[in-house]
Amino acid sequence: MSKTYIPAQLRREIAEQAHGCCEYCLQPELFSFSSHEIDHVIAEKHGGTTTADNLAFACKLCNTFKLAREDTCS
Ligand SMILES: [Zn+2]
Repeated sequence: MSKTYIPAQLRREIAEQAHGCCEYCLQPELFSFSSHEIDHVIAEKHGGTTTADNLAFACKLCNTFKLAREDTCS
């Protein structure tokens, strides 16, 4: 899980770019059980930055599975 604070303005920007849908499974946040999260496309531990071009709007499920995959690969 990311420890970096993502400013509300940046989060809004990412959500707008993704049209309020998860960028991986396209689930709209409105129909999700929990609010979507901001995902680092390149994880911070791999040198990814907290900037719009390295952030994706992701539902809890996709974000959790991505974290699990990263853990098995590293
Ligand atoms: Zn998703």
